[in-house]
Amino acid sequence: MILIDGKKAAAELRAELKEEVAELKSKHNKVPGLTVILIGDLTPSQIYVRNKEKSANEVGLKSEVIKYPDSVEEKTVLEKIQELNSDETVSGILVQLPLPKHIDKQKVIEAIDPSKDVDGFHPMNVGNLSSGYESSIPCTPLGCYLLIKKIEPNLSGKKAVVVGRSNLNGKPMTQLLLKENCTVTITHSKTKDLKAECLEADIIVAAVGIPELVRGDWVKKDAIVIDVGINKTDNGIVGDVHFDEVSKNARALTPVPGGVGPMTIACLLKNTIDCFKRSQI
Ligand code: NAD
Repeated sequence: MILIDGKKAAAELRAELKEEVAELKSKHNKVPGLTVILIGDLTPSQIYVRNKEKSANEVGLKSEVIKYPDSVEEKTVLEKIQELNSDETVSGILVQLPLPKHIDKQKVIEAIDPSKDVDGFHPMNVGNLSSGYESSIPCTPLGCYLLIKKIEPNLSGKKAVVVGRSNLNGKPMTQLLLKENCTVTITHSKTKDLKAECLEADIIVAAVGIPELVRGDWVKKDAIVIDVGINKTDNGIVGDVHFDEVSKNARALTPVPGGVGPMTIACLLKNTIDCFKRSQI
């Protein structure tokens, strides 16, 4: 079984991106800039943002974090986004989710200029992705896609099952696999026989949030299994896939932690650089 090493893949991607940033700097005399807006003092969000800033600096991006207290008015955030939209030194804008209840998430997402939407959540990017046009792609499914392609460069005709239909993970993942000519089944909490669906799959991507949902006898021999889940349990962090059981059957599997997680941030950097490149054309 191939243990898909997300840490290594992310480090390789960051090294490529660092070179690309250096080339862009010498060509355009400027570097891509990422601005993150962080609202409130939720610890996981603070940790994510700190890691994003560290990685951005590592590859040579200009990086900035704008912090607001939980009590900030929606209007203040929307005005700041408008200011960043027209700031030429800002290539990518990310508003760290979740937001406090009094702030309308969708309004915030739609306020970001789609050409600077490094999360790929703006309806224009969602539409472009599903129409097969160039777009920003949400970072976690993009990371999963790059890991799958490392194992199997030609996905044409493969059967893929995506478990979970969130806008963040399941739906964009489905679009990426469709683009590669996979036959994709998207499953969710109302799916009748999830085990039977998974048993058909050459590729399984699990993004559910239920510890160890996907069991060993759900997985066809030689399937590629990507585990997006991050679940806190009494036994530590586990994924949505039962690692010990599935590793006996699968051809390749991502561990949790150390699989999809590290790729997510690397893909955010990639998206920022891609936004910059599109803005220079
Ligand atoms: P979500 O709660 O938005 O969506 C979960 C999806 O799972 C829903 O579509 C739901 O229909 C489906 N579902 C629920 N119960 C099910 C069941 N019994 N069978 C089949 N499908 C079922 O979750 P999300 O934001 O997509 O996150 C999913 C997991 O991925 C979470 O554990 C989250 O922490 C993790 N995550 C990891 C990363 C990363 O970088 N690795 C990034 C984002 C999210």
